[in-house]
Amino acid sequence: MKRDNRHRKTWSYWNTYQHPFEHLQAYSNSSLIVKNSSQTTLDCNTYNYSTIDSNDFDDFVFSELEQSENIDVIFDTNIEDIGLEGTEYIFRVSENLDCSARYVFDSRPNKSPFSMKQIFKGIFVEFHEPLENFKPHLMDFSDKDQFHFFYSLPLGKAKYLFESTYYTSLNMDSELMTNEVHDYIKEKYGDGYSVVREEYGEIPLTTNIKLNENKSNYIKIGIPAGSTRASTGYTFLNIQKQADEYIRMLNGKKFIEYPKTFKNKILRKMDNLLLMIIRDHPSESKKILFEMFNRNKAKRIIRFLSDTPTLVDIISIIWNMPKVIFIKYAIKSFTASKI
Ligand SMILES: Cc1cc2nc3c(=O)[nH]c(=O)nc-3n(C[C@H](O)[C@H](O)[C@H](O)COP(=O)(O)OP(=O)(O)OC[C@H]3O[C@@H](n4cnc5c(N)ncnc54)[C@H](O)[C@@H]3O)c2cc1C
Repeated sequence: MKRDNRHRKTWSYWNTYQHPFEHLQAYSNSSLIVKNSSQTTLDCNTYNYSTIDSNDFDDFVFSELEQSENIDVIFDTNIEDIGLEGTEYIFRVSENLDCSARYVFDSRPNKSPFSMKQIFKGIFVEFHEPLENFKPHLMDFSDKDQFHFFYSLPLGKAKYLFESTYYTSLNMDSELMTNEVHDYIKEKYGDGYSVVREEYGEIPLTTNIKLNENKSNYIKIGIPAGSTRASTGYTFLNIQKQADEYIRMLNGKKFIEYPKTFKNKILRKMDNLLLMIIRDHPSESKKILFEMFNRNKAKRIIRFLSDTPTLVDIISIIWNMPKVIFIKYAIKSFTASKI
């Protein structure tokens, strides 16, 4: 894949973790609405909800890499296999490339299909004038029988992103999703807009992560290494945390990989229950999620969703969850396979 063909993504996240790409944040929101049959506002003053365009990220990162004398970036090369010979990893590639390494950081996606995915279709639009009545929505749940919501963000002047998102085990029709985004925009804000571009994505939602072997120099990173928060799809900040951890490792410092920490194990268990409930009771789950936003302090929810909760955050969020369904699924999870 050539650099220009890289899948363009609009990464958003709450500022809960410092990273070297903060200067690329183009847009920021201090409040987000979550709406089901009623609505609540998530206060993001402490942890702003910020957005980076992956094109800006690529411009920055590749120009830094070009200046470095000991890094070569190779595009359009399919790595089919990586095997260990002695202490060296040998790459089997389809092109004629001789390559071996002492350390491997591998972000190639897993090939196995996932039982739950976050599927979304985003439309970037420009209105003739800025929308006076626009408010960013993190989740505007539809009244479908599926776990489905619309997401909307302002992207400067009269530009906006509107997205239709499903958490589902099914395949979705992208064209149908496009149409429902247009219907949503027209119903709320009228049709005085033009389409700037579109974005489609599928993010695996799974707690079934194969952890990296201790002390191995072959290290899975990114989504296949469990960077995605299974119940939300948020991944970007976890990837930054993971990069920081491996920099520490290469500098000989000790650390515990995040998926192996006690906190992450608890969160994965919770996410597994949540995903099972979403899969089996999508409509009911919308109420559960809405109540989570309604009953907990904004800072707690944001830390929880961003994978940086304190133990007190986790306990209060569990406390405020509907008990009966969670206990039922906690018992079920002993015999069911992980999502
Ligand atoms: C459209 C979209 C929007 C997203 N928005 C958000 C967001 O708002 N917030 C958030 O937190 N997360 C978001 N995510 C999730 C996540 O942050 C991104 O997917 C992120 O780019 C994942 O990084 P990665 O390194 O795991 O995978 P990728 O960025 O997909 O990197 C994998 C790389 O491996 C290469 N590759 C694959 N197979 C081979 C092979 N056989 N040989 C050689 N190279 C190979 C690919 O070409 C690719 O460059 C989004 C994802 C998508 C798809």
